[in-house]
Amino acid sequence: MVTRKEKRNREKEANYFFEFLKIQKHFFKDLMNNLKKVADHRHQSYITYGPEVLLFTMMLKNMTGLKSMRNMSESFNKEECIKNVGKVLGLDSLEELPHYDTINDFLSGLDVNELEKIRTYMIKELLKKRSLESYRIEGKYWGVIIDGTGLHTFHEKHCKHCLRRAYTNKETGETNVLYMHHVLEAKLVVGDMVFSIASEFIENESENVSKQDCELKAFDRLAKKIKKIFKRLPICILGDSLYACETVFNLCRAHKWKYICRFKEGRIKSISTEFKAIKELEQSKDQNSLVWVNDIAYKDRTVNLMEATMKTEDGKSKEYVFRAC
Ligand SMILES: [Zn+2]
Repeated sequence: MVTRKEKRNREKEANYFFEFLKIQKHFFKDLMNNLKKVADHRHQSYITYGPEVLLFTMMLKNMTGLKSMRNMSESFNKEECIKNVGKVLGLDSLEELPHYDTINDFLSGLDVNELEKIRTYMIKELLKKRSLESYRIEGKYWGVIIDGTGLHTFHEKHCKHCLRRAYTNKETGETNVLYMHHVLEAKLVVGDMVFSIASEFIENESENVSKQDCELKAFDRLAKKIKKIFKRLPICILGDSLYACETVFNLCRAHKWKYICRFKEGRIKSISTEFKAIKELEQSKDQNSLVWVNDIAYKDRTVNLMEATMKTEDGKSKEYVFRAC
């Protein structure tokens, strides 16, 4: 056991910047060059800092857990810090670190694809190093979770791409519209870590679309993106019950991926009916039990369904896990 005091002392001795550089040099040797290559949208004659300085400063801010940009400018503009950053980037002449206004200005006009290229470079390096091999499913497939997240919600229209959702205020009875921005993320699962490998915004093309964009439509686009970047990577898509549907099965088949999705009763009725019928024949009385049925016919394919029943501390809980190949 490490006491808190020992931990504090140990942390005092740790040089996190040095540790970070060690990791960066080992896994991402070419990171700084990649930052330098980011396409710069600014007028070239007004530039003091190249993209690598701006992006690296931002990375330091996020890694050190600084909450605000203002905070960052205050904490980083110290002689030693400037010197260290200059050294890392091979810029001996670096005298100041960029002001947060300069960074904001750069980031607000930056093409998202430019950052995606850096992420792709990093993920591919990690895979190449083969240090995550033990996390492959059945020693072969990389688990990739598909996960939709809300980014922003507004009470007034924010832009023409906003997703809209009408809701009724229970107290006033008034109907209002929420304006939202969501993103669909593909995340590589390696033990208790997840790494984002591709993102797709869920947004409407224009205000007058007859049907709004949704997670499944965005998944179609995201899947194409993943396939383009990681052409031959053996992938197993991991999704919640929304993904247990034919659209996703077909997409996975087209891209030669496996999939494991949560299955909620009612998502595909014929499958749960058949599963239940077979399960009743072989029902186990165990409270912690695992029941599965292979090769349940569904359209022109077969799927496997597994049900795990586990006792939880607050009583009993039942879960369907759906797996299809
Ligand atoms: Zn918007």
